[in-house]
Amino acid sequence: MKQLELKYSFDALEPYIDALTMETHYSKHHKTYTDNLINAIVNNNQLQNRSIEDLLTNLDKLPKEVQATIRNNGGGYYNHNLFFDILSPNPSKNPSNDLLNQINKDFGSFENLKNELINAGLSQFGSGWAWLVKDENKNLKVIKTANQDTPLELGLSPILGIDVWEHGYYLKYKNLRKDYLVNIFEVIDWNKVEEYYNK
Ligand code: MN
Repeated sequence: MKQLELKYSFDALEPYIDALTMETHYSKHHKTYTDNLINAIVNNNQLQNRSIEDLLTNLDKLPKEVQATIRNNGGGYYNHNLFFDILSPNPSKNPSNDLLNQINKDFGSFENLKNELINAGLSQFGSGWAWLVKDENKNLKVIKTANQDTPLELGLSPILGIDVWEHGYYLKYKNLRKDYLVNIFEVIDWNKVEEYYNK
């Protein structure tokens, strides 16, 4: 398990995500999730040899004593690796190819999808995530989860995650979660999302 290496500097997503938020989010919050996950499985070769996707998909079958830690910190590790990966200072701001076709089929338009994601993030009470997920037939859906819960345990693969924990926006946006949700689309790279869709 390894924290994703950032391909951009902490201030690269300004003004949409401020440098201090990025640095704290990546170097403190995400690092802590990663360290806690590693510590939880360091003495268990069997768990160490499994992928994070496998662990999070089969949470209920894990040993009781590590279940909560893997749900919370393994989820935090996995969710943020995806989140930081799909953000870019030079994003492709529109989906294309198969992904665009599927978006039009499942949501009617890209605009509708964006609105659904914003509404999912706004209506998540407390901390959590808004997701664009694909099912086993590559159909798309927007869902939300609480805390660091992942779509994996629901049998769904996330291709885009938007962090709506206050630590992700509060320094700049204060209580205005909607402004954060609208602005984050300025730094979401749909080429990257498409890579996850095609995986
Ligand atoms: Mn976060």
